[in-house]
Amino acid sequence: MGPLQIKEILQATPENQPVTLKGWVRTKRESKNAIFIALNDGSTIHNIQAVAQPGQFPDELIQIVTTGACLKITGQLVESQGSGQAVEVKVESIEVYGAADPDVYPLQPKKHSLEFLREIAHLRPRTNTFGAILRIRHALAFAVHQYFNDRGFFYLHTPVITASDAEGAGEMFRVTTLDLNKIPRTEEGAINFKEDFFGREANLTVSGQLEGELGAMALSKIYTFGPTFRAENSNTTRHLAEFWMIEPEMAFFELEDNMDAAEDFVKTVIASALENCKDDLNFLQNRLAEEDKNKPQNERSIPLLEKLSFVVDNPFERLTYTEAIEILLKSKPHKEKKFQYPVGWGIDLSSEHERYLVEKHFKKPVILTNYPKEIKSFYMKLDEDGKTVRAMDVLFPGIGEIIGGSQREENYEKLLGRVHEVGIDPQNLWWYLETRKFGTAPHSGFGLGFERLVLFVTGMSNIRDVIPFPRYPKSAEF
Ligand code: ATP
Ligand code: MN
Repeated sequence: MGPLQIKEILQATPENQPVTLKGWVRTKRESKNAIFIALNDGSTIHNIQAVAQPGQFPDELIQIVTTGACLKITGQLVESQGSGQAVEVKVESIEVYGAADPDVYPLQPKKHSLEFLREIAHLRPRTNTFGAILRIRHALAFAVHQYFNDRGFFYLHTPVITASDAEGAGEMFRVTTLDLNKIPRTEEGAINFKEDFFGREANLTVSGQLEGELGAMALSKIYTFGPTFRAENSNTTRHLAEFWMIEPEMAFFELEDNMDAAEDFVKTVIASALENCKDDLNFLQNRLAEEDKNKPQNERSIPLLEKLSFVVDNPFERLTYTEAIEILLKSKPHKEKKFQYPVGWGIDLSSEHERYLVEKHFKKPVILTNYPKEIKSFYMKLDEDGKTVRAMDVLFPGIGEIIGGSQREENYEKLLGRVHEVGIDPQNLWWYLETRKFGTAPHSGFGLGFERLVLFVTGMSNIRDVIPFPRYPKSAEF
């Protein structure tokens, strides 16, 4: 299948055998005795060194071998003369597929800020940092499918376009083919969505869960893994307008099973990244250590690999929302009025509260359960007391909420009651409600924002840097 990748060539035993390299120049260095070209094709963080002799090629050719140019090099794979690599290539021919004029090519071999790289998202995959992130992202996605496949889950493709606004009141992107300059009106003057493509209002989905539940009521264990969209205008380092969500849904799972599943799932996929992405994780760890050098001792983070192993090896702390509020009320930042948002039973925890629990109090991932029903979705199973629901949020250091899940209300009357309570028109959800009429079953599920997982594993600090082409307010360039 095509030429050998640089990753494979770097692992080969050098026996002066002929090799062909295809890739992009990272650096070129000319000395009196040799011209060194570091080439990378994205298959690995490591470059391969190609060595040519001065005078071996015309000056015009060597001049256009600059950072960013794409080359085909043929030569012999030999043991490396220099230190730092086991093999190198003795160059016999160079073909320039595409030059990259150094006067205008924006990626030069020096450190660029992540903000600047976001402005050139079409080129940033060519940097070491983004190459590493994209390979880790791939490995994690693959591990997700592997995890569920190995455990009897079926991958269910839920729709991207939806007509139900079950969760995200006011946070959805509208899908329409109406001519915005000639909006059809009803006699009362309202927009006539009957003339729209679907004959009704439609939006991009905020979650595949409701359809996922329909799947679980037939296949028992399903998962979705697809794009979701939220038009929330939150310019944070943890929110995207378009992100990928993994949502397993399991018949016959209660809250306890759901927590076990979520914990085992994140641990397993993180462990697989540790196993399969060593070089890239090492690179990112060093990058973070480099950044930390400028910080005072007490603000430095623990090394990335250590942090990941810690999460894999230790049980998550489990407690109820009510217990968490008690801890927060007794906490130093609360007493000293250091929290920006007030603490009290009934509040929706903000990320400063979540991070206090995880980073300061327990110093490990935390699963919070049994939240007040007022701050959670209508479909969560009511507790006996009628005040709290069988919700669970998994909170991670540096991130806050990484997973949100619950046991679902399987009782038709109770669910309908909640639908009315929160003011949803049951007509819009007749198909969802019917699952509770026909062969209902206890079931549970959760949603993991894939980018938040990638954020955690790569140790990056902005979610815009862990998806190839991020979508956020006022930004959809690439
Ligand atoms: P948050 O409070 O952080 O906004 P949420 O309560 O809105 O999260 P859920 O609706 O429970 O989140 O969604 C499930 C998961 O999807 C979250 O745990 C998180 O990992 C992820 N997620 C939610 N919103 C976003 C977003 N805008 N960008 C990226 N990931 C997100
Ligand atoms: Mn949110």
